[in-house]
Amino acid sequence: VPRGGPDGSDGGKGGDIIILAERGMRTLYEFKMKRKFLADSGTHAVSNKHGKNAKDIIVKVPVGTVIIDTVLNEQLADLNMHGMKFVICQGGRGGRGNLHYVSSVRQVPNFAEKGAPGDTVIAQLEMKLLADVGLIGLPNAGKSTFLGTVSAAKPKIADYPFTTITPNLGVVSIADKTFVLADMPGLIEGAKDGHGLGIQFLRHIERTKVLVHVVDVIPVDESDPFENFKIVEKEIKEYSEEVWARPRLIALNKIDMITPGSEQAEALEVLRAKIAEYGYPIHTVSAAANLGMQPLLFEIAKTLEAEEAVESMPTLMPAMVKPDIDEGWDVREAEEGGWEVFGRRVLRMVKMTELRNPDAVRFLHRRLERMGIIERLRELGAEEGDDVFVGEAVFAFRDH
Ligand code: GDP
Ligand code: MG
Repeated sequence: VPRGGPDGSDGGKGGDIIILAERGMRTLYEFKMKRKFLADSGTHAVSNKHGKNAKDIIVKVPVGTVIIDTVLNEQLADLNMHGMKFVICQGGRGGRGNLHYVSSVRQVPNFAEKGAPGDTVIAQLEMKLLADVGLIGLPNAGKSTFLGTVSAAKPKIADYPFTTITPNLGVVSIADKTFVLADMPGLIEGAKDGHGLGIQFLRHIERTKVLVHVVDVIPVDESDPFENFKIVEKEIKEYSEEVWARPRLIALNKIDMITPGSEQAEALEVLRAKIAEYGYPIHTVSAAANLGMQPLLFEIAKTLEAEEAVESMPTLMPAMVKPDIDEGWDVREAEEGGWEVFGRRVLRMVKMTELRNPDAVRFLHRRLERMGIIERLRELGAEEGDDVFVGEAVFAFRDH
C-alpha cells in the first residue's frame, strides 16, 4: 500500500488428497474408471485478507487396501481397518504475503512468496484378502484339510507338523453368505516369543473376528486331546487376552476314525463334556470325509454376522501422513559444468520464489546461505559466475 506499508496477506492452502478405508467398499473396481484425483489450489489472498484453503479430497477404498508408491516402489500404507486414513498428497501451503518480509531495513517489501507446490504421487492400490475366520489348532489337527474341504483353496496337506508356512486363505460360501477363512500355521509352544512359525500365525490371528479351534480327537502320537486343546488355548490367552476373548467354535475332528460304541467313542464323549465347560459351541466333524461340516459352517457364518453387527460403529482414525523426506539436500558437480543442488525443500523454496524480482532472489540467497548451501558450494570450489542448477532454475554463483 503506497505510504501505508505492506498490506499483502497469505494465500490459502491447497487441498490434501486423503485415502480412507471404508467397510462399505468391496472392490477397487471404481478405479478402473477414475484414476486421477486432483485437489484444488487455495485461493490468493485479497489484500490483507487471507486466501481460502481448498477442500480436501477423500478417496474411499475397501478395507485391506495396500498403497504402493509406483515410482519409489515402496509401500506407503496398509489400510487394514475401517476408518483408517492416509494423506497421500499434501496440498501446498499458501505463499506468505509481503507482510512477512518486513524488517528494519526492508519496511516496504515489494515481493511475496508464491504458494508451495502440492505433492504428486503415482500410486498403485492393491487389495489384500483379509481373513474373517481363523482356524487354530496344533499341527496335524486337520486345519489344512478343513480349508480344502470347505473352500476352493488348495492348502498343502501332509502328515507331519508345520506344513503350513503362510496362512492359506479360502473363500467359503454358505447359503447367501461368504466369508474368508484362514488356515493358520501350526502353533507351537512359545510361539508368542517369536520361535518357529508361530509368530506369523499370531499376527494373522489378530485380524480375524471368529476362531475355529480344530482338535484332533485321535492323535497319532497318542497325546491327550484335552491337554492339546488346553495348550492351544493357553498360548492364545498368554499372547493376547483380547484375541483369546473372541468368539470361538470347537471342531472335534477325525470322527471318521471312531467306531460307534468303542472305547474311543466313550473317550470322545468325555472330551466333549470337558470342553463344554468352557462354554464354546462344539461340533464333531470329519474334515477329510466331509462329515458334519455344513452345520458348523452355518454356525460360523451366524457368529460372524453377529460380530460384525457389533463392531459396525465406524472408528475414524487419525490420518497417517506420508513420511517427510523433506529436509535433506546435497550439492554435486553438474555434468554440463557448474553445480547442481538437490533436495525437496530447496526445490520448493526456489519454486516459491518470484525469480524476476531481485529482492525475492536476494531473500532466497540469504536462506540458502543460512541452510549452509552457499558454504558447501564454496567448499566444493564454486567460483563467481558458475552455473548453479536448482530444479528448473539456473543461478549464477555469487559469493560476497
Ligand atoms: P494341519 O497341520 O492342522 O493343517 O493338518 P492337516 O490338514 O495337514 O492334516 C494332518 C493329517 O490329518 C493329514 O494326514 C490328514 O489327511 C489327516 N486328517 C485331516 N482331517 C482328517 C479327518 O477328518 N479324518 C482323518 N481320518 N484324517 C484327517
Ligand atoms: Mg496345515
